[in-house]
Amino acid sequence: KSSNSNILITGGAGFIGSNFIPYFLEKYPNYKLINLDLLTYAGNLENLKEVEEHPRYKFIKGNICNRELVEYIFKEYDIRGVIHFAAESHVDNSIKNPGVFVETNVNGTYTLIDVAKNYWMEKPFTYKKEYENCRFHHISTDEVYGTLGETGLFTEETPYAPNSPYSASKASSDMIVRSYHHTYGLNTIITNCSNNYGPKQHDEKLIPTIIRNALQGNPIPIYGDGKNIRDWLYILDHCKGIDLAYHKGKAGETYNIGGRNERTNIYIAEKICEILDELLPIEKNKKFNSSSIIHHPSSYKSLITFVPDRPGHDRRYAIDATKIEKELGWKADENFESGIVKTVKWYLEKYL
Ligand code: NAD
Repeated sequence: KSSNSNILITGGAGFIGSNFIPYFLEKYPNYKLINLDLLTYAGNLENLKEVEEHPRYKFIKGNICNRELVEYIFKEYDIRGVIHFAAESHVDNSIKNPGVFVETNVNGTYTLIDVAKNYWMEKPFTYKKEYENCRFHHISTDEVYGTLGETGLFTEETPYAPNSPYSASKASSDMIVRSYHHTYGLNTIITNCSNNYGPKQHDEKLIPTIIRNALQGNPIPIYGDGKNIRDWLYILDHCKGIDLAYHKGKAGETYNIGGRNERTNIYIAEKICEILDELLPIEKNKKFNSSSIIHHPSSYKSLITFVPDRPGHDRRYAIDATKIEKELGWKADENFESGIVKTVKWYLEKYL
């Protein structure tokens, strides 16, 4: 890999990208990162304030579906690697409005990888190796594998069986990336990760929703019976996994990244309430002293309210991360109980 690389990061103003960019800039002093982000409702430049003025960071507002713009960026910055986060990412939104998921996740990924392939293939590289070193890393989800019963884990060999328009669009984009490796010899990597949590996540997602509603004394909505299981991955553990896969992963391979932290949604809600009970007991929370709340419950747990289930709600996801652990030496540093305390502390600052 060229030691002075310009790398295109897409969707860097979103949750994962905005955690990844500062981490990556600091770790690799030879990289310049160009962040292409449309700033949809999910993108927030506030999350990148710490790197705004960084000499090796450049932000470009734009759409990954805009071929002319993407071509311009490749030429202007002589891009030698791509780490592709940009996507529509919220399952509930994909149920209401699937079209934009197909547009961004499928067409956007196609546009990006096609421009990358053309640019790198047409470049008058002196050595074939230079083409082979230009990596296209696609960030995907374990939701492409569908749902699990009580037992079993998703491996890289699990057949794709997406159930929501979101996961179907991600599955389609994975297939496009796969085909560019097999057809054009492009140096691709796909990582499929489980549910991330940590600082900077959009308010709409489960954990910020639980924390925000609890702090404001509002009902904490939990879908169905709360027994759906997700495998939780602390954001910085994910960033380290991406870093390893980008640098050491074998071209054309897929790596699953999961924290081996299966928890039910109701456990998560109760755990967060317990942490809040310690960090900010209800009697010290000013929101509970407003006239609209007459009875003070003793724990935030009393705010938990079950709401009708999401259509097509997958019951259980869980990842077998053996491949990335064994082949690349990755391992999660946080378990859910340690990572969630850090997360709640961050949101306490944000919401109060
Ligand atoms: P996010 O929704 O927080 O951020 C997505 C970013 O992409 C936003 O900044 C948005 O403005 C940008 N974007 C959207 N459409 C765009 C377009 N057409 N052109 C350019 N930019 C556009 O998402 P996230 O949680 O950071 O997820 C990043 C990636 O990781 C996604 O591909 C997602 O599918 C995948 N993923 C996320 C999780 C998770 O738990 N968050 C789990 C598995 C996989």
